[in-house]
Amino acid sequence: QVINLADYRPTDFVLERVDLTFELDPTETKVESRLIFHRREGADTSAPLVLDGDELALAGLLFDQIEMAPDQYTATPESLTVRDLPESDPFELTITTIINPEANTKLMGLYRTGGIYSTQCEAEGFRRITYFPDRPDVLAPYTVNIIAEKATNPLLLSNGNFLGGAGYGEGKHFAAWFDPHPKPSYLFALVAGDLGVIEDTFTTMSGREVALKIYVEHGKEPRAGYAMDALKRSMKWDEDVFGREYDLDIFMIVAVSDFNMGAMENKGLNVFNDKYVLADPETATDADYANIEAIIAHEYFHNWTGNRITCRDWFQLCLKEGLTVYRDHEFSSDQRSRPVKRIAEVRHLKSEQFPEDGGPLAHPVRPTQYREINNFYTTTVYEKGSEVTRMIATLLGKETFKKGMDLYFERHDGQAVTIEDFVKCFEDVSGRDLAQFSLWYQQAGTPLVTASGSYDATAKTFALSLEQMIPATPGQTDKKPMHIPLSLALFAEDGAQLQPSSVTGAEYAGEILHLTDRAQTAVFHCIASRPVVSINRSFSAPIKLHFDQTAADLALLARNETDHFARWQALTDLALPTLLKAARDGHSASADRTFVEPLLAAAADDSLEPAFRAQALALPSESDIARELGGNNDPDAIHAGRQAIMKQVADAGRDVFLKLHETMLTAGDFTPDAKSAGRRALRNTALVYLSYAEASPSRAKAAFDAANNMTDLMQALTILAHRFPDSAEAADALETFRDRFADNALVIDKWFSVQATIPGAKTLDRVVELMENPLFIRTNPNRVRSLIGTFAFTNPTGIGRADGEGYRFLAREILDIDARNPQLAARLLTSMRSWRSLEPVRAEHARKALTEIQQSDKLSTDVRDIVERTLQG
Ligand code: ZN
Repeated sequence: QVINLADYRPTDFVLERVDLTFELDPTETKVESRLIFHRREGADTSAPLVLDGDELALAGLLFDQIEMAPDQYTATPESLTVRDLPESDPFELTITTIINPEANTKLMGLYRTGGIYSTQCEAEGFRRITYFPDRPDVLAPYTVNIIAEKATNPLLLSNGNFLGGAGYGEGKHFAAWFDPHPKPSYLFALVAGDLGVIEDTFTTMSGREVALKIYVEHGKEPRAGYAMDALKRSMKWDEDVFGREYDLDIFMIVAVSDFNMGAMENKGLNVFNDKYVLADPETATDADYANIEAIIAHEYFHNWTGNRITCRDWFQLCLKEGLTVYRDHEFSSDQRSRPVKRIAEVRHLKSEQFPEDGGPLAHPVRPTQYREINNFYTTTVYEKGSEVTRMIATLLGKETFKKGMDLYFERHDGQAVTIEDFVKCFEDVSGRDLAQFSLWYQQAGTPLVTASGSYDATAKTFALSLEQMIPATPGQTDKKPMHIPLSLALFAEDGAQLQPSSVTGAEYAGEILHLTDRAQTAVFHCIASRPVVSINRSFSAPIKLHFDQTAADLALLARNETDHFARWQALTDLALPTLLKAARDGHSASADRTFVEPLLAAAADDSLEPAFRAQALALPSESDIARELGGNNDPDAIHAGRQAIMKQVADAGRDVFLKLHETMLTAGDFTPDAKSAGRRALRNTALVYLSYAEASPSRAKAAFDAANNMTDLMQALTILAHRFPDSAEAADALETFRDRFADNALVIDKWFSVQATIPGAKTLDRVVELMENPLFIRTNPNRVRSLIGTFAFTNPTGIGRADGEGYRFLAREILDIDARNPQLAARLLTSMRSWRSLEPVRAEHARKALTEIQQSDKLSTDVRDIVERTLQG
């Protein structure tokens, strides 16, 4: 069944109030839902009320407290249809359902794992709890009463403010919560069980004190401190930067260990994958800390962008997600190093979103059609959606953008709105027509911009010709030219920036060039000498750029650009030709000096921040190379070629790396701040290169033994396992690591991942063997992702081994997982999205594996949707 954006219409009935009572029981939870509705003015007076369900059974239905006659309604597992309802008077329906939280392996709706009841309702999980108009444009205040056995569930939580609680006869107790802010059902949450807590408070800008609580498993309280700190910084930042104040008396976060995604912004009660809450130096890497900070912020920021203002329908998902990712990116940039954060964002966008946009699953930031909404929580909606928001800020300038956001908050508070409503706010404050710009929401595919420049020494003009091409994507063949804001600067041979007296042929203001036509030539006047152009600085637009620049010009930018993102880009552009060539030449590849020298110069440049240098030294990955090659890819050749180049860079830079390894040691106690993390990153990158130069595990072994934090320990372990997989040192380290952390699931995930990513065909056997390990829990999404997911997504030579066994393995596992947890299975399957760019033998193996999945007769709609699009596109 296909849902179309064009078919949107409001509900016939308006929901006024929701009153829920849960009698919790592991296998038989009774849910009584009292809903007050009235017919919408102008709606058909004979229209029935149709409520959504999903695997539900109706156990009782009252109309204004009186049992309804069987001929007045029809209940199926998927819907409840009620007829003969009043023309305009409000009425009350009381709906009773009985659900089984322990049997709920989909982890959508109300489920119970590890003794904890929790919920996940976005996008359509609420309908697994009770019959309801389960769509984001139905907003109401909720009262929630929870009754449960007291001994096993001392904690009873839901959204909003706590009303009160008391004993409730034989060993039970109850709690009542009221959320005054009208919300859609996807923001509902309930948590019950026995958990530990850390508490703090935050005083808002208007002086209200908010109680902050983070609930974790008993004994893990000390590991929630960083999350609490990140939360307080997020609350402050949203006040300072966006003027947004928190709006309830209490804000709670619960960490759960069985969770399908990262986290969920339920009003006043965020539920998190514990991976994004728990951290201490012994068990969390710097990347873990950065993720926790970003995700805590993200979910908190949703309180305004998502909760106070929500989506009219699920096609508008990027309205809240793209905007909120943009906000969390800005937050992290302010907390850390802006250019380094930008480099990381762009790396992520290119490695995750570009392949999506260039493959069979490509879709617009705002799709117009879906079969399964769960499959649209994608990097296109999130990350490209964030880039589109960033471009609005770039086009309008910081101040006008802020005015637009203020207007958005003021105009739409309490509403469920669309992308058009959002964009209109920026048009209204700027007077700029954003119709063409809005194509970014509508047209899928990564635009390709081709640039070429020519300098006229006599006229002192520089002409830059630009052309844009938006590739065809599934369902979209004809594309219109887009409005592409390109941050652009010109540099002289001595590295100084050149300022044109004027620019003709294109709008150019504040160093932003507006590319709006299919082809356009901008002429820069009064340019005294041949300029070196830097285009798409800070990655101002999410495009691919084809611009033939000489190695000398790129090296000049790598040395002199004031925008450090652009320096990194120049270094990457210098490295790419060598890596692409190496992917064809394999072992015999050789590194071009024109790329090695600037790279080592940057590495050794102490005026650059260590984190930046680490980013520069992290060469494009094997999948980056595969993406750039674009077709007929042989993962083994790409791997061999890249290894050969790594070795040559390592040999050429041995002295630099030795020195960095020595000098970047951070003294004193571990702190997770960005500066120390940057030093660790640079030092560990140096260690990686040294492992190539020295071709021996001893230095990594020594690092493993000396490590006093998880970042260093993991890096050493990774070098041992990946570079020297058959060594005794690797085997010992893996064993030591496992024994030391066997009781810490999140660290064991790292142990699985590091083994799942060992390059080469043999790794499949190891993965299969690890699945038999008692530490591997099939029903836990984090375990599955850490082993099978990491193998499928980030081990091209393993999953893509030439005999096709990797893909066959994946197909089997996906079918097995799909029977329990369709969302998890569908997500894993997206790892196959680039199968068509493999060389023919592997592509055929991949196609067969996909076909095997497709032919299964009991597929979930989630997996069916992905597999069919992947085969078709
Ligand atoms: Zn979000």
